[in-house]
Order: sequence, then structure tokens, then C-alpha cells
Amino acid sequence: MILCNDIHSKLNPTRVLEVLQPTTEAAVVEAVRQAARQGISISICGGRHAMGGQQFGESTLLLDLTGLDAVGEMDRVNGTIEAGAGIRWPQLIDALHARQIGDDPMWGIRQKQTGADDLTLGGALAANIHGRGLLMKPIIDDVEAFTLVNAGGEILRCSRTENAEWFRLAMGGYGCFGVITSVCLRLSRRVKLERRVEIITVDRFLPLVEKRIEEGALYGDFQFSIDEHSPDFLKRGVFSCYLPVGEDRPMSESRNELVADDWRELIRMAHCDRAKVFDRYASFYLGTHGSLYWSDTHQLSVYLNDYHDQIDRDCGSEVSASEMISELYVPREHLEAFLTAAAKVLRQMEVVVIYGTVRLIQRDEESFLPWASEDFACIIFNLHTEHSMDGIAKSADAFRALIDLALRFGGSYFLTYHRWARRDQIELAYPMFRRFLELKEARDPEGRFQSEWWRHHRDLFLQP
Ligand SMILES: Cc1cc2nc3c(=O)[nH]c(=O)nc-3n(C[C@H](O)[C@H](O)[C@H](O)COP(=O)(O)OP(=O)(O)OC[C@H]3O[C@@H](n4cnc5c(N)ncnc54)[C@H](O)[C@@H]3O)c2cc1C
Repeated sequence: MILCNDIHSKLNPTRVLEVLQPTTEAAVVEAVRQAARQGISISICGGRHAMGGQQFGESTLLLDLTGLDAVGEMDRVNGTIEAGAGIRWPQLIDALHARQIGDDPMWGIRQKQTGADDLTLGGALAANIHGRGLLMKPIIDDVEAFTLVNAGGEILRCSRTENAEWFRLAMGGYGCFGVITSVCLRLSRRVKLERRVEIITVDRFLPLVEKRIEEGALYGDFQFSIDEHSPDFLKRGVFSCYLPVGEDRPMSESRNELVADDWRELIRMAHCDRAKVFDRYASFYLGTHGSLYWSDTHQLSVYLNDYHDQIDRDCGSEVSASEMISELYVPREHLEAFLTAAAKVLRQMEVVVIYGTVRLIQRDEESFLPWASEDFACIIFNLHTEHSMDGIAKSADAFRALIDLALRFGGSYFLTYHRWARRDQIELAYPMFRRFLELKEARDPEGRFQSEWWRHHRDLFLQP
């Protein structure tokens, strides 16, 4: 048995039978057929960043897709690229640059996750992720087609016109319907962007973001204060947005960028000196006001694996800890009221917020299990979580309370980060969840693809 765990929360230790790293589609097909012959189940992983146990299953054969990272054909006219599902964002961005040396204009990725880069395209599709685009839908909107190996070992090309039901199910389907081997990703023209930074209170966020969108802003977010003892808690924040500028504007050689040491210091302060960290962060961001970035690479960010080990040592903590993330959605007009209520809940429950941000998403009308069921404001919280029974229960309670709040405002939450939601919460946020499980069973009756996440939900919905 091999012990696996997720990278960020480290709260999903799971023993798998074996880890296979196929490098071709044929090897994936063979692995699925071999597993069928042996009567064993398969779990599927990419960058291992999901935190709800979606990528591992106890006693399964783990297919690690990161070896499927080849880059295929690029359509320079329509702006698409075919790439292996195991490719990570920095590799894909580098490959796009290498393919277009001398081209003007160039194509680039439209969106990726923020806060971490070593995540795969397959993982992005399986969670139907989003980035900090101001006018974007989840990544399903950026996908022209993909190839899927299903439980029968068949190779299916899936798009809006071919195997369309598989397309809708596997996008945001968390690996339940098969292995995505290759993806045809839609690109957009790579443009130069100017970052504008303002310190504002949340009541100004929506009117200001709308104004900036009218001026042409493409990306942006609002990173709020995490000091629970301050009246600014979840209220005052750094609003950054990115507007296209002329190609002739020169990029500065010496930009004030957040490097690994700054990141380490900020995250240390977020744990030990929350009263000061916002000012430090805000002054760093204000120092970048007016800086120019490319639309693809500005989405890359610093992330240090195992950073929490050092925090634990610095804080003299007796038990190890990590951050658990959750993402809540509310109709945009309720953003301020939600954050006010959330501040009250988090203070009462005495949970520590390490980082939080607000972004926008547009409605996804295509995936079977859409989290963006409306044009929502997305609120992301990273909660410090001690790896003890009490510590984990505290974060789980806090996230359930935040989900209740979001639901009360007509909102929802993201399935990616944990499996702590109650069944009634899942049913309200995802009314089609039961049908999703039924369709999984119909398409994979022997349960070839299994994860701790799927097993949890199957069992939860078995109860009357
Ligand atoms: C620090 C951090 C920041 C994040 N930021 C964001 C963000 O800004 N926006 C956002 O939307 N999400 C964000 N996430 C969540 C992240 O995007 C998802 O968890 C994503 O699925 C991780 O991709 P991965 O390659 O690590 O996949 P894994 O964690 O390995 O797997 C995740 C899911 O994808 C499935 N999967 C992986 N590869 C394949 C494949 N080839 N075929 C079929 N299924 C597959 C797995 O079975 C599993 O269900 C963040 C997570 C962390 C830890």
C-alpha cells in the first residue's frame, strides 16, 4: 500500500494499492481494462491540490496523469491548443510561448486558478475551475473538446456536439466518469495589462468593479483584511484590476514583484501578526499600481509546498496545521450583507482567517453540476486548521455555518475544497446531485472510478 495525501491541506491521507503514471492514452486504456479484469477500482489524480478526497480512494489503483503532458496541435487562426490532461499551467504557458516566437499578436490562456500553479489541465476540468476574470464563466467555457477514457476502456471525444452528455458530466465531474487524457483549450489574444490598485471598503467594490469593467478591465479581485480584532475585518481590502493598454507601452524591467521570501513573510504575519499584515500587503500592492503584466503570466503566483511546517515551528505549535479553503457564492447584491454576517460568525466561532478574497463569476449553463448557477460574487476563505479532532471539527463547523449563510442569501459553495457540507446543504446548492450520482452509476455500474469524495456522497445519499 502507498500512502498519498493532498498538497495543501494534508488532511486526506489515503492508502492506495499502487500508483501508475501512464504517459500515453493507450497506457490509460490498458490500465482501465486491466483493472476491470482484476476487479479493482481506479482513482485519478493530477496535481493533488483538491482537498475533498476527490483524487484518492482507499485500496484503489491510483492513476497519476502528470505524465500525459505532451502539447499537440495549435490552431493559430481560431486560437485553440490540444494538450495532454496532465500538463501543468507553467508548462502549458511556456509551450504556448515557444510555439509563437515572433508571432504578433500571440495567443495565451484565458484563465487558470490563482494562488497555485502546479495544477493540471485535467484537474481544472474535473473541478470546472475559475480564475480572477471579471467577465468569465468557469473553465468549461474555455474548453472546445476533450478525450475521455470511460469505465469500459472506450476512448470518447467529447464536445458540445459529440458525446455531449459525457462532456457536461465530466466537466466538474471530479473524475467520476473516466480519465480525461487530452484537452482542446480555447485561447484568447495575449494582451498587455495595467494593474490598478485601490484600497476600498466592500460597499464600494461592486460599483467600482462595474465602472472598471466599462473602462475595459478584464481581471480583478478584492483581497480583504483578515484581522478579526479590527473593524476592517472582511470589510476593507485591496481592490486590484487589470486593464488592457497599448502594446507600445514598455514593460518595466524592475517590477515590484512578490517573491518567495515576501510570500513566506506575509503568510507568517497572517498567522502571528494579523494586525499588521494587511498594511504590509496593501503597501506592497499599492507599490505595483500602474505596473504592466501579460494577460497569461499575471495569473501565475508564488506557492510553496510544505510552507506550513515552518509556520508550525515559528508559532511553536504542538500539533501540525494547515489552511483549509472554502469558496462561497452569493448573488452579487448580497455581497456586503454576506461579509458582514460572515464576520460575525467567524468571530463568534473564533476561527482564524489566513487569507480571503472576492472575485466574480458568470453563470455556467453547460455543466451538469454547475456551481456557478448564477452570476455570483465568489468569496474565498482560507481558515487555519489544526490537525487535531477539535481543530478539524472547528473548521468544518465554520464552513458549514458559512454555507448556511450563503444559502440563506440564495447562494452556493464549491465542492472542491472539503466534504464537510451536510446533505441538506448539498441538495440546496446542487439540486441535481442525486441525479449526478445516478448517472455515475449508469455509466460506471461496476464502480471502476472511485474516490473518497464519491464514496462519501454515495453513502450520504443512500440514507433515506
Ligand atoms: C492553494 C490552492 C489554490 C486554488 N485556487 C483555485 C482557484 O483560484 N480557482 C479554482 O477554481 N480552484 C482553485 N483551487 C482548487 C483546484 O483548482 C482544484 O482542486 C483542482 O481540481 C486541482 O487540480 P489538480 O491538478 O491538483 O487535481 P487533483 O487534485 O489531483 O484532482 C482533482 C480532481 O480532478 C480529477 N482529475 C484530475 N486529473 C484528471 C484527469 N486527467 N481526468 C479526470 N479527472 C481528473 C481527480 O480525480 C479529482 O477529482 C485551488 C486549490 C488550492 C490548494
